[in-house]
Amino acid sequence: MSNVPSPPSARILVLGGGPTGLYAARTLAAQGLQVTLLEKEPRAGGLATAFNHNGNWYDLGVHMLHEFDREIFHDIRDNIMGEERIAVQLDSKIRWAGSFYRYPLQFGDMIKGIPPLTLARCVLSLFSTQLWFKLFPKTPINAEDALIQLYGRQLYEFFFKDFTMRYWGFPTTELDAKFITTKMPRLTAVDVLKKILAKIGIRDNRVHAVDSALSEETLHYSRTGAETMTRRLAAYAQSLGATILYNQDVNSIENAGGRITAVTSRDTTTGVLTRHPCDYCINTIPLPLLVRKMTPPPPPEVLASCDYLKFKPITIHGLLVHKPKCIDGLYIYYRERIFHRVGEPKNAGLIVNPPDHSVLIVETTCEMDDEKWRVTDAVKEQIMTDLEIEKICTRDQIKEWHLLQAVHGYPIFRLGFEPHFQALKSHVDSFPNLRTAGRQGAFCYPNMHGAMRQGATSAKAVTGQIKIDRLETMPVPIQESMPQVLD
Ligand SMILES: Cc1cc2nc3c(=O)[nH]c(=O)nc-3n(C[C@H](O)[C@H](O)[C@H](O)COP(=O)(O)OP(=O)(O)OC[C@H]3O[C@@H](n4cnc5c(N)ncnc54)[C@H](O)[C@@H]3O)c2cc1C
Repeated sequence: MSNVPSPPSARILVLGGGPTGLYAARTLAAQGLQVTLLEKEPRAGGLATAFNHNGNWYDLGVHMLHEFDREIFHDIRDNIMGEERIAVQLDSKIRWAGSFYRYPLQFGDMIKGIPPLTLARCVLSLFSTQLWFKLFPKTPINAEDALIQLYGRQLYEFFFKDFTMRYWGFPTTELDAKFITTKMPRLTAVDVLKKILAKIGIRDNRVHAVDSALSEETLHYSRTGAETMTRRLAAYAQSLGATILYNQDVNSIENAGGRITAVTSRDTTTGVLTRHPCDYCINTIPLPLLVRKMTPPPPPEVLASCDYLKFKPITIHGLLVHKPKCIDGLYIYYRERIFHRVGEPKNAGLIVNPPDHSVLIVETTCEMDDEKWRVTDAVKEQIMTDLEIEKICTRDQIKEWHLLQAVHGYPIFRLGFEPHFQALKSHVDSFPNLRTAGRQGAFCYPNMHGAMRQGATSAKAVTGQIKIDRLETMPVPIQESMPQVLD
């Protein structure tokens, strides 16, 4: 097949430079392939990054690497982070009913912490729920169904119901059950009870939550925070031959003859459009954005599905406080405050200047243009009040206040989203030379190691496709050697 590019000359584009895109580029470049990554921001990292203000680093939500994927972890440890990596013991807590608990919840803590009558009700309700669903199996549709099947009605009402509403801004009955089964960390305390029930033959095995963190685990971080890993990953990919173009906002994705043929990006600093002809493409930018930017556009019903895949924006408050240490642990989850999590990365080794100060990363979810996104005075006031109530710091101790925001924070698994996701995915899959992956591109919840694994898998799929294309008869790809500046 003379018209099909041979592997070294096949032009591969990666859209988006978060962990997924960077790892895809790293994997392809390591094989000697010609890969160009387009990232709209001036830096690599996506959500997994940090910003420097007046010499201190503020994470866009504290990011630490898990070891679950050993191959990825060894690569990051041995080839990428080098001496900048710090190993740190997970120390995360949850503030619940006036006390602190280790997070994920431990069986012993739970027994000690819940009032005996409530605990008895929770156990009884878990027991009866397990029995009920064993006798009358039912696939959960929404998050309420799934949580009740997993934890029993009492624990659901006590622990999850209000918090989920506050976090998402809509009731658990409108959240898809898939969120619970693919994202929400399991309560190990409940696992223990379930094991006991299983021993006496009472167990509903149909609904599972995920292991997103272990109660005792080593995490990996750096003295400059979350930016190190992705900065070094980008540099490593470049050292292997990948080209990374920053400030390139993907503007349109051309297709012809059933293949993606070129991507045009707009330079966010100059406005100049550049056309990048390609033979293969890995997408990691938000899936609905990708589909909307396709030209010629997809059928109207596919385009309509884009409206059903939405993302929850995040506003992170990075505070420099005049207090050497503010919380006990790496981060604490709060259920009754304006923020849902406060992290203190100094406790994981972040360097803070001056040394008698600390950095707090205060996380909130919001809606575009609501008061938490706009950060009104009332919101700031509430944050300071809540920090004081929790004895984290006083308002006088806050010396600098920095805002870190992301529009595409959390994919929203709103009830009924799945067929629309499938419609977009099927459309993308109809192009053999296009892959979509990662938190935004596959509309899912990987941690960084999972995102990098998806990047590696997409890279492998592309190399597989290159081989297939070389064996099969296919239309002549348009061969234009260099990107063309359009205006
Ligand atoms: C608050 C918070 C805390 C987290 N903490 C952890 C943690 O401790 N440990 C962990 O393992 N994981 C953590 N995660 C998850 C982690 O952030 C994700 O797994 C990871 O960032 C996903 O990588 P990605 O490349 O798929 O997506 P992203 O990181 O979102 O990257 C997508 C990239 O695409 C770019 N892009 C978007 N649109 C365009 C466009 N039009 N043109 C060009 N480029 C574009 C973006 O700028 C971005 O760089 C956390 C997530 C959040 C929100």
